[in-house]
Amino acid sequence: MPDKSGVAFLGLGHMGRPMALNLVRAGYRVAGFDVVPEALQSARAQGIPVAGSAVEALAGADVVLTMFPSGRHVLDAYVGGADGPGLLAAAPAGTMFLDCSTINVDEARDAARLAIEAGHRSVDAPVSGGVVGAEAGTLTFMAGGDGADFEAVRPLLEVMGKRVVHCGGHGAGQAAKICNNLILGVSMIAVSEAFVLGEKLGLTHQALFDVASAASGQCWALTTNCPVPGPVPTSPANRDYQPGFAAALMAKDLNLAVNALDSTGVAGQMGALAARIYDRFAAEGGAGRDFSAIITDIRDASGQHAARQQEPAVGENTGTEMPGRPGTTTAHDDGSPE
Ligand code: NAD
Repeated sequence: MPDKSGVAFLGLGHMGRPMALNLVRAGYRVAGFDVVPEALQSARAQGIPVAGSAVEALAGADVVLTMFPSGRHVLDAYVGGADGPGLLAAAPAGTMFLDCSTINVDEARDAARLAIEAGHRSVDAPVSGGVVGAEAGTLTFMAGGDGADFEAVRPLLEVMGKRVVHCGGHGAGQAAKICNNLILGVSMIAVSEAFVLGEKLGLTHQALFDVASAASGQCWALTTNCPVPGPVPTSPANRDYQPGFAAALMAKDLNLAVNALDSTGVAGQMGALAARIYDRFAAEGGAGRDFSAIITDIRDASGQHAARQQEPAVGENTGTEMPGRPGTTTAHDDGSPE
């Protein structure tokens, strides 16, 4: 691929817009497009050259970079439909299809297969680092694809990120991302449970942090993204859990991990449980909060649990009848359970 290739940058949302802008600033010939007019206008206002359609953006492009919400969006755009031809058919043979969205491993492999069957090249390169990393050009890219294809896109990825790792063949970038985030989701829940337990046992946050951060409980969820304010002043807990890494995205990534657990037959119980916990947290108002805010959920549930324990159980030592069991009581005369 030529130096400073032409890039059709499709998907100018929270991540795509700042990433595209960094490519423009580095001298790449970018033509951006987004199906949402406001996203397109905002990109244009920031100085990103935009096209009138995805196919129009392909003119002169060596690379088609997609930054979409899901694998369905990627596959639909590649293949096309009633609205018109897909990107694979519209692009000249040998075009590099670089997908930076976070999608299912199987979808990434399908996307690569379709691109190669259409005579193109393909690399999956999901990112971590969030919007802040996208703006600063400090993302981490986890790439999957042939070695030569990876080397071809490496300079472009290095403009948008500070760390670029070739993880293996097609889909390996997505695999690395969801395996990492499975560890992260589970460990954040574990760290949060430990802090709430410590609170109940009379431990200060700082005391638990001082011990665990230098002991075998040490992990990123504790030492960088600490879910309680104080011990790590830069963690989102110190700014009322503004993300950071939003709980909705953690729920998304954990569900991608669960799909991979299912498709590979791995008995990953903690990952599946973490996905359910974050799904519920996101659905009940936590979606836009940093994922470390899961501690507030655990604390709230623990308060309710403690309150329940302090209330007399229905019929406890009162001789009242248990619902559905006429004539019986919850306690024997000596107060012992049945
Ligand atoms: P976003 O929803 O803000 O942006 C996605 C954009 O793609 C939208 O503007 C949408 O209109 C556009 N789009 C969808 N289909 C399109 C099509 N066919 N043609 C052109 N544009 C199309 O999402 P985001 O936060 O920018 O995230 C993008 C991807 O990056 C997701 O897969 C996400 O999981 C991943 N990611 C996000 C973050 C983050 O912090 N936001 C961090 C790491 C990874």
